[in-house]
Amino acid sequence: MTQISEARKGIITPQMAQVAKDEARDPELIRDRVASGRIVIPCNKRRAHNRLCGIGKGLSTKVNANLGTSPDCVDIGLEVEKVKVAVDAGADTVMDLSTGGDLSATLRAVLDASEVIVGTVPIYEAAVRSSRTGAGVVRLKPDDMFEAIENHCEAGVDFITVHSGVTWNVVQTMMHQGRVTDIVSRGGSFLASWMLFNDQENPLFTQFDRLLSIAKKYDVTLSLGDGLRPGSLADSTDRAQISELLTIGELQKRALDAEVQCMIEGPGHIPIADIEANVRIQKKACNEAPFYVLGPLVTDIAPGWDHVVCAIGGALAASYGADYLCYVTPSEHLALPDVEGVRAGVIVTKIAAHAADIAKGVPGALKRDAEMAAARRDLDWMRQRECALDKRTFDTIREGSPPSTEDVCTMCGEYCAIKGLRDVMEKKKEESK
Ligand code: SF4
Repeated sequence: MTQISEARKGIITPQMAQVAKDEARDPELIRDRVASGRIVIPCNKRRAHNRLCGIGKGLSTKVNANLGTSPDCVDIGLEVEKVKVAVDAGADTVMDLSTGGDLSATLRAVLDASEVIVGTVPIYEAAVRSSRTGAGVVRLKPDDMFEAIENHCEAGVDFITVHSGVTWNVVQTMMHQGRVTDIVSRGGSFLASWMLFNDQENPLFTQFDRLLSIAKKYDVTLSLGDGLRPGSLADSTDRAQISELLTIGELQKRALDAEVQCMIEGPGHIPIADIEANVRIQKKACNEAPFYVLGPLVTDIAPGWDHVVCAIGGALAASYGADYLCYVTPSEHLALPDVEGVRAGVIVTKIAAHAADIAKGVPGALKRDAEMAAARRDLDWMRQRECALDKRTFDTIREGSPPSTEDVCTMCGEYCAIKGLRDVMEKKKEESK
């Protein structure tokens, strides 16, 4: 049984009912879109969930936070703290991308700490294990890849990124055309290296049915990874990227036929002018499957501020129809993020998602903005705080610069524009009575 198989029988599962309630949508609409693959509800059967969410057509834009150890930074406690900070800041999902230390223990800790949906990239575990034996990533056995996938599904992971679209043809296309930044996806790079070293096709493509049967057993959602996503504006929307996307579209159709939930990952570094086309092509080529964008990053020159670069691209992509935004932290391209970086990344991506939801016309999206506007008009600082997306920063700034009178702020002080005009208007009204 999967969410899709139930939806196709006409059954509204508790998960579909929950999503309908959270999004104030008709349960039948959710069921219909799960059945057709336009909405996914990642929820591994082996894990109890506190906070599920639906991702896809007509729903609010969701936000993911990546975390996890690296070979140079191994601290499970710190990664657990990042999970809590990310969820507290509003992340709808987290992904454990660990590559350092005890990977199974880290995943277990992340799953235990997360009340939200958890995703992983199992090829990382397979690659790290092979590397630690001294054999290296390129001597990985295909069975090891599937063993890692099964392990993650068994552990309770809700969705897994699999780079099944990194085919021999796609890699050859990339090599023939020439790229500035070749492959920047870790999973894509592992697989392309393996294929070129072994002169073989990608096992996650040739044995896609095996992958589907594992995913179906646990109702794990596949996130078809964009291993060839552009790593610089110069490589945006090139033949390699589009060739992989078309392959992924075919795989998504096979996943739907097997009643396996599936979403599609997208770029990457994309100039603003290319974002709309990228979203429209993905939606057309992949049967309107949920689109999970890793950015897009709209310039290459802002290390330290890539969370903002990503939020600009994410807001535009989601306004054109992308459904799910992967955050970027200020540390992107520089280092593993710290806890504050995780928080900043989630907050700016939530702002992007919310701005896009207003543009998309998601029901209720404007309600909080209307409440904030009224609170500002009334100089009601408590209500403004309640409406604020980031209350901690609200407090830090206001308390750090206390006004001479409580009803205004130190931006204009006694020349408060709202208060000045309001006082005159009220006096005028009194006089005209
Ligand atoms: S003091 Fe200026 S910035 Fe502050 S609430 Fe009044 S008008 Fe707005």
